Amino acid sequence: MTNSDIQDIRNDFPILTEKIHGKNLIYFDNAATTQKPRCVVEKIEDAYYHYNANIHRGVHYLSQVATEANENSRGIIANFIHAKNNHEIIFTRGTTEAINLVAFSFGEAFCKEGDEIVVSVMEHHSNIVPWQMLCERKGMKLRVIPMNDRGELLMDEYKQLLNEKTRLVAIAHVSNVLGTINPVKEIINIAHKNEIPVLVDGAQAVPHLPVNVTELDADFYVFSGHKIYASTGIGVLYGKEKWLNLMPPYQGGGEMISTVTFEKTTYNELPFKFEAGTPDYVGSVALAEAIQYVEKIGLQNIDNYERELLNYATAKLSEVEGLRIIGTAKEKSAVISFLVGNIHPYDMGMLLDKLGIAVRTGHHCAQPLIDSLGIPGTVRASFAFYNTKEEIDTFVEAVKKVSEMLR
Ligand code: PMP
Repeated sequence: MTNSDIQDIRNDFPILTEKIHGKNLIYFDNAATTQKPRCVVEKIEDAYYHYNANIHRGVHYLSQVATEANENSRGIIANFIHAKNNHEIIFTRGTTEAINLVAFSFGEAFCKEGDEIVVSVMEHHSNIVPWQMLCERKGMKLRVIPMNDRGELLMDEYKQLLNEKTRLVAIAHVSNVLGTINPVKEIINIAHKNEIPVLVDGAQAVPHLPVNVTELDADFYVFSGHKIYASTGIGVLYGKEKWLNLMPPYQGGGEMISTVTFEKTTYNELPFKFEAGTPDYVGSVALAEAIQYVEKIGLQNIDNYERELLNYATAKLSEVEGLRIIGTAKEKSAVISFLVGNIHPYDMGMLLDKLGIAVRTGHHCAQPLIDSLGIPGTVRASFAFYNTKEEIDTFVEAVKKVSEMLR
């Protein structure tokens, strides 16, 4: 992408011209949430101003338009991740809710005392805690794939963990702390040879890399709208029909029913069986709009450009005295976690903020990973396609300045 392409893109994101403490905003907290292009915000406004009505239930015109918009969005999302069927796309509130849904419903259908779930050491709490809750409920065990000191999973150890008690493998596609892109295709192949299904947490992958759930042969793939330039409160669970059909509903009420009597309720077909209550139909429309925006730029172009930013920032940051990058996997997404000497990440983050630079500090909801590294947390800069090398220059100078102040 050329500089003028990037400038055009930046013009689509009004927030990027905000001043923070009198300085130009440099937004490097994209792994936490991304900013929203004008088209997404306008789509939300359009929905509320022109066709807001509860979906699926109304015979009236607005309800039909809203229902159609919601289902059209489902189709756009299915195409985007190459799902075979639209009904394999379940709308959730986000990655966290999608994983909780699978941990509950898959757990009810397929898990029993003594069974095991395999996760990795670099998982986000959202891909640990729901499985721990399942383990507590059923008397099961959580097994953990370790990593090397670059932040790459140990595949031999992974193979050793799988056995006849393993019910499911749940793994991040991309680590939100280390940036590691895990070899999910290989992980899935190995699990499938043992007839074990795999859930992929794609929260940090879908906004940055082309994802094809059919090619990956993922059994479940989950992500959040707000990390891919859409609104908060909407997310996606992709699940293979064969699993979803065998799993009981997660929540009751709303459109998830077929018939209700006080004696017995029968459930709706997919995807509605898993969409209890009034869905976030405006969120789904916003998500589809964001996806179309991203597709217009092209995931491959985004991937290439963000890798350029990653390499540029990695080289520049390495010049800072005493700076250590946490996570140096060969396959990395545009996330850089680092520490400078023994400066506390929080102090670094606070002072960078005063210079208009938004980074994340702390354990990034991956406490077991941070503990295993024996560090108090990290400072994390995470990039999106609207970021520039000039911003990285300013950021690196700021890191140098703050390091000198705090040393
Ligand atoms: N998994 C990963 C890898 C993440 O980075 C995040 C968000 N930081 C989540 C899960 C949780 O996403 P959400 O809060 O949108 O449900």
